[in-house]
Amino acid sequence: MMRVLRKCNECGLEAKDKNSLDLFVLHKSGKHNRSKLCKNCKSKRMKKYKQSKEWKDRVKKWRTTEACKISQRKTDLKRKYGITLEDYDNMLHSQNGWYLMVLEKVEHIN
Ligand SMILES: [Zn+2]
Repeated sequence: MMRVLRKCNECGLEAKDKNSLDLFVLHKSGKHNRSKLCKNCKSKRMKKYKQSKEWKDRVKKWRTTEACKISQRKTDLKRKYGITLEDYDNMLHSQNGWYLMVLEKVEHIN
């Protein structure tokens, strides 16, 4: 009989060698540094959790924080103009400042 290194608590998936351990969620204090959940079940759980009121409340709360605004701004800039927040600040304080403002105005009109 093959030795089972890790077994998923939810779907019963077994890891019998080091390679298949990759299918399991990393967990520092777990056996072989893996959790008792496989990645598949974990992502299913997360999906479910993200539909729960608890998660939505957390997101709502997070949205009101300064950290969130900054992080959104970063993603926005990267996506729209391919620049970082630092680039933006530099540009804003340089001659390119007007250019950014024009870009953003156009965005708002659209
Ligand atoms: Zn599983």
